[in-house]
Amino acid sequence: MKLLTEAEGSPVAVENPEALSPLLLVCEHASRHLPEKMGTLGLSPDALSSHIAWDPGALAVSQLLVKSLDAALVYQRFSRLVYDCNRPPEAEAAMPSVSEVFEIPGNAAISAAERAARTDALYVPFRDELADFIAARKASGRLPVLVTMHSFTPVYHGRQRDVEVGILHDTDKRLAASMLEVAERTKRFDVRRNEPYGPADGVTHTLIEHGVKNGLLNVMIEIRNDLIQDEAGQKVMAGYLTGLLGESLQALSL
Ligand SMILES: [Zn+2]
Repeated sequence: MKLLTEAEGSPVAVENPEALSPLLLVCEHASRHLPEKMGTLGLSPDALSSHIAWDPGALAVSQLLVKSLDAALVYQRFSRLVYDCNRPPEAEAAMPSVSEVFEIPGNAAISAAERAARTDALYVPFRDELADFIAARKASGRLPVLVTMHSFTPVYHGRQRDVEVGILHDTDKRLAASMLEVAERTKRFDVRRNEPYGPADGVTHTLIEHGVKNGLLNVMIEIRNDLIQDEAGQKVMAGYLTGLLGESLQALSL
């Protein structure tokens, strides 16, 4: 079974591939769009527009950074409810049957054939696009800097989260450490290391697969989504991150 129709096109979008800066932005949860063949997965319109379907604001902020930092951007055009591209195919969370307080009926009993179809349709092309991009840059002697862009819900399981920007890393913390140092100096937002979750929660798949394995500087940025729900907020956050990333890379002599 083919999951995507011809008209739905490629699941992966690439912006500014010829970017002059080494920054490669990745947005795995950019979209809440579902492939037509998936229907609604049994979810209400409210659930389908909530944070379980996508990272609200993350793509908009990423697109502003493409311009301000002359970065390249790769993002997934379909919802993480169908396949979460920040998870490997063997992970239960790649196609979760429960997300926070929502049960996802369409993910309750997925056959092996459907798991494979979703993986082939959404994950494989996404993984390959990133791998090819990085390989091509490396071949031309330019090492990319991998920055994955996410947003998180301010209230999770009824509890308010105070952290505003999370700087997440796995085993390679070079870029994260530099960013945390700059953030500490400016004190503009409540910025914390590996919050509101971290590597132990399985959220660093893209960082490991494409960053750590290639020896690239890498970091995952998590923005509280109430700060970036409108254009004004997105501009403020993009301005902040432009400075933060710019200074941090400078400190690392890049
Ligand atoms: Zn995310």
